[in-house]
Order: sequence, then structure tokens, then C-alpha cells
Amino acid sequence: MKVNFHPFLLPLVTLQFLLSPLFSIVVYIYIMVKPPKYLQLLYPSATWRIPSQDKVMYLTFDDGPIPNITPKVLDLLEEYKAKATFFCIGENVLDNPSIYSDIINRGHSVGNHTFHHKNAWKVNYEDIILDIEKASKVIDSTLFRPPYGKLTPRTLWYLHKKYQLIMWDIISCDFDILLNKETVLSNVLDNATNGSIIVMHDSLKASENMLYALPRILEHFTNQGFVFKAIQKTTKPRN
Ligand SMILES: [Zn+2]
Repeated sequence: MKVNFHPFLLPLVTLQFLLSPLFSIVVYIYIMVKPPKYLQLLYPSATWRIPSQDKVMYLTFDDGPIPNITPKVLDLLEEYKAKATFFCIGENVLDNPSIYSDIINRGHSVGNHTFHHKNAWKVNYEDIILDIEKASKVIDSTLFRPPYGKLTPRTLWYLHKKYQLIMWDIISCDFDILLNKETVLSNVLDNATNGSIIVMHDSLKASENMLYALPRILEHFTNQGFVFKAIQKTTKPRN
């Protein structure tokens, strides 16, 4: 297995570790293509992969819906009969309700990615919970993915009761403008396997890398007999 490291991985991790050991671990998770198993223990109740004997993968798209980008993703997915999961930002859903409806009408899943893409480490507990619940008014889902992968223990405990936390085992790093698009593509092609949950972004920032990598990912794995499925909502009760 080939692992592509971010070019600034070592200096970044060293600097962050000197500043804050706990913060460095989270940064480390976020910029690693494939988070190691022991780091996944930080969020033990989360889903990092959906193990399967079958050739199944789970594409996920964060930060939409966005005009001119999300519709292109939907068309590409349809071309390959692929389903995916969209972790939407509440305010983007309010701004683009027809694109949000199109995601659902085309058979994909949606998940909550907060209303304002809030970083749980930069706002207090009450604010992040309000932001998550505000998003839940416009995003009908019990799936949740934290912006930047960041949560506090108290927020994690709150989410555990009401939501299924969906993380990833492969991050394409399409959002990283320092990476070229071929590296983004090989991050996924070289590392994804049965049951992988792959992070991509239907955002303006990631669009160039993502729209280069996505059709090639779909073609590569479809030719190998893989099927792309949406992550299903859980039956966790909503209070
Ligand atoms: Zn995000």
C-alpha cells in the first residue's frame, strides 16, 4: 500500500505538538490520508469504515450544496450508477434548496455538517450544539460529521445520544490547494478498499482537485467491480 503524505506533514505535526499535544493529534488525523487505527479510538462511537467482504465503497462529499459544483457531482455519480452521502452545511441548504432536493431525489443520503461549518474547538459547547440543531431543522438526517473532524468530549457525548458520527478511513485532501490533482487522485486510488469511507468536498475551494479526481475514481473502481453506496441513516431516536 502506498501512502501519500502531505508535504508539510512533519513540520506541521512537530510545530503543533510543541504548541499543544492534543491539538497535534487532531491535525495529524485530518491531514493523514489514512488515519491509523489507534487514532480512531479518539472517537470510539464513530463509524470510520463499514467493513464488508463485498466490493462496496462509500463516497462522501462535505460542505455543499453549492451551485455549479454539486450538480456536476450528481451527474458524474449518475453516469456510474453510484450513490453517495452528502454532509451538508445548513446555510448552504437554505441558499440552494433545489440542489438539496435533487441530492435526495436522486437516491443519495444526506448528513448534518452543522449550520455554519463551526469548529467545535473555537466556539463554546452551547454554540456548537445550537448550530448542529439549527442544521437539523433543514437537514433530515441522524448522520453527523464534524467540520475539521474536531469535537470536544462533551460534544461527542451529546452527539452519541442522537446522531451517528461518520468519520472516514480515506481522505482525498482535495481541499488542499498545495497538493496537485494527481496526488489527490492517487490518495484515493492507492488506499481505498472494501468498505472504505472516502472524504471529498463539493466546495469551491476543492472543486478543481475534486472534479479531476472524481470521474477517475468512479471509473477505476467501477471497472474493478466496485459498487458505490450511500451511508444509510440510523434509527437513533431524535429528541
Ligand atoms: Zn467541512
